[in-house]
Amino acid sequence: MHCTRVLVLEDERPIRRMLCTALERAGFQVCESADTTEARRCLKETPVDVALVDWMLPGESGIAFLGWLRREPELRALPVILVTARGTEGDKLSAFEAGADDYVTKPFSMAELTARIRAVRRRAGAQGAASRNKTKVGPLELDADAFTLHAGGRPVRLGRAEFRLLQALMDEPGRVWTRAQLLDRAWSVGADVGERTVDVHILRLRKALAPSGCDRMIETVRGVGYRLARPTAS
Ligand code: CA
Repeated sequence: MHCTRVLVLEDERPIRRMLCTALERAGFQVCESADTTEARRCLKETPVDVALVDWMLPGESGIAFLGWLRREPELRALPVILVTARGTEGDKLSAFEAGADDYVTKPFSMAELTARIRAVRRRAGAQGAASRNKTKVGPLELDADAFTLHAGGRPVRLGRAEFRLLQALMDEPGRVWTRAQLLDRAWSVGADVGERTVDVHILRLRKALAPSGCDRMIETVRGVGYRLARPTAS
């Protein structure tokens, strides 16, 4: 494996310099940018393995930049760690909903940051090796072969029906599914279940996702059914 390349997007020069120096000392290659225009230029020139993105930037925010990354086919899978001084639960959820892989709150230690960079890089590497049966939507990572789900990097235990339901929803984020369509996808043909069963399992699914805050991604569409919210920029 080549040396891990990290994009450092941070507008405050002293912090940016400190980060770059420390990361280079830790053995990473660094691409330094003070704003999102520079960051885009940097990504165009040389691919990176991990992006370290500051939330508060002049002009386009780190969250908006993250939203852009997640819409770009070639950059969609790039692991992103959001760096910010905003540390409330709501801020963290917004970060994960926007598609961040991890989140660090200022001030942080360089040891913690480098460990997190290596962890998201490892996760992305494992994913790339067998990406066919893996689906990622924002903080949700589903592995159909291993029958595992991670929300914000943490494992979530799901029953079979909840797993299949989520799998269907993750296949097409933003699409509205009727209960009948979800029944078709999540239960075997001829299973003796009614549409009310879908509601029960959606409830269980939301409960399982609640600790990560990802339950909010499953939206009820009144009179129709359900959909998984697309990760959005805010
Ligand atoms: Ca800043």
